[in-house]
Amino acid sequence: MANIGLSIKENRMVMLEDLVEDKGSLVEALNCDTKFVCKKRPKCCPECNATEIVGVEVMGSYDGILLWECDICEYTILRFAKETTEKYLQLAKGLWTNPSDWGYVPKSKFN
Ligand SMILES: [Zn+2]
Repeated sequence: MANIGLSIKENRMVMLEDLVEDKGSLVEALNCDTKFVCKKRPKCCPECNATEIVGVEVMGSYDGILLWECDICEYTILRFAKETTEKYLQLAKGLWTNPSDWGYVPKSKFN
């Protein structure tokens, strides 16, 4: 495998709804192993071994990187314990269930 030390350090800012669908437990809805927590940026993806790991900040949630995501297969790696991550994700959920804060709400948000 050609490993030339390429490492992407960029971060990404996303909306919670980009990550999960509303199913009660938000962490459970993520494509991740909830027992696997990585405080620091993982060297490679546990799923596909790619080294393109992106720090993900969720709008309205934790102020900083909340999760890691593989840029290749989109596998998610938790940065905090499951319960903590859930708590932060719920904060973001509160944000987008208050549509008046956003000038525009897509129709798909109304069930
Ligand atoms: Zn991957």
